[in-house]
Amino acid sequence: MNEQQLQARKYDEQDPLQSFRNEFHVTEETIYFDGNSLGLFSKRAEQAVSALMNSWKQYAIDGWSEGEHPWFYLSEELGKQSAHLVGAKANEVIITGSTTTNLHQLTATFFKPEGNRTKILADELNFPSDIYALKSQLRLKGLDPETHLVQVKSKDGNTLKTEDIIACMTDEIALVVLPGVLYRSGQILDMKKLTAAAHERGILIGFDLCHSIGAIPHELSDWNVDFAFWCTYKHLNGGPGSVGGLFVHKRHFGKHPGLAGWFSSAKDKQFDMEHTLSQAEDAGAYQIGTPHVLSAAPLLGSLQLFQEAGIEAIRKKSLLLTDYLMKLVDTELTDFGFHMANPRDEKSRGAHVFLEHPEAARICKALKADGVIPDFRTPNGIRLAPVALYNTFEEVWRMVQILKIIMEEKRYMQYENKRGVIA
Ligand SMILES: *Cc1c(COP(=O)(O)O)cnc(C)c1O
Repeated sequence: MNEQQLQARKYDEQDPLQSFRNEFHVTEETIYFDGNSLGLFSKRAEQAVSALMNSWKQYAIDGWSEGEHPWFYLSEELGKQSAHLVGAKANEVIITGSTTTNLHQLTATFFKPEGNRTKILADELNFPSDIYALKSQLRLKGLDPETHLVQVKSKDGNTLKTEDIIACMTDEIALVVLPGVLYRSGQILDMKKLTAAAHERGILIGFDLCHSIGAIPHELSDWNVDFAFWCTYKHLNGGPGSVGGLFVHKRHFGKHPGLAGWFSSAKDKQFDMEHTLSQAEDAGAYQIGTPHVLSAAPLLGSLQLFQEAGIEAIRKKSLLLTDYLMKLVDTELTDFGFHMANPRDEKSRGAHVFLEHPEAARICKALKADGVIPDFRTPNGIRLAPVALYNTFEEVWRMVQILKIIMEEKRYMQYENKRGVIA
């Protein structure tokens, strides 16, 4: 064993979160650095799903009100358990829908074009689904997305400058929707400052937390963010298609849901079956229909792990992991034409490292063939996410050694430099 590997092992021994790796189904033969796309399956999540299925078996219809986690209140219960991750009051969060449907709901609720204020501000680097949703919401209001969706430009193609975003907050903007962490470069936006700037200008603001929830701490209530939404299958390890979440600041409680349904009701009124909605007095009002109970169940288990580890400790380890990875890339991979496109400083660095390379697509294929799971982002990006709850420093070290050999021996040349259907 060489000096570097010993060093990596020492970091693992000093890691206060090391025992959490045992909570997950990890395969020792592979190095999984794709937890920012789909988090790993935990044993707690497995137990939670199994318990939920048993409640169906045992109670049938009465499962809505009986058992350890009555399904009728499950979305609220999980909202409460997620609140610490976004820095919210328990009733400001609800587990419901998906990222995209929640964005539709929140835009339908909060985007009220009036007078001169008829535009939505987003950015040119955001995930396409958010942009499609915002454009279709504009069309529903009879507005032209070409003129009414303003997208902040990036100067370097990977990051956004706070002052450039603020400069776009004109008196024509009614609503701002931005990511908390950019999905490619992993840049953290200054949510607090952007929220204050939007409010000074009479603009509402919401954030997509897909890449930030479970990775970094948030203080949404204190920052006065108007709303937020996220998925739970990335850093939160809820499993494929697990139910998403949303936050609405308590000062907006009572606002009529843009997309209403019977699950928008106050719990005690819902079964009165009235044709006039008595909406819930909290974030629960932004639910629509019957919750996807089976897809929410894994969260009962996986959220326990976040409760136990604590988001501050997770962030601390995540920074150490990405710092170690960046240093190894700097020293071991200098001659191979990689460009590190994620922010390096701790304030704006999210939970992954983003390497650009013209051969990125086939380098990813070569990594996969050698047991490393990265993810490719078109046209030339490799995302590497060492996850605090289950990855190790030694895996970071091993991954860099594997990548170095791939580059030295040009082993990527045997693959086509083209992405797969899913990348
Ligand atoms: C993962 C992700 C999505 C996915 O949306 P779904 O509705 O869950 O399919 C949307 N936006 C961002 C920024 C993402 O990272």
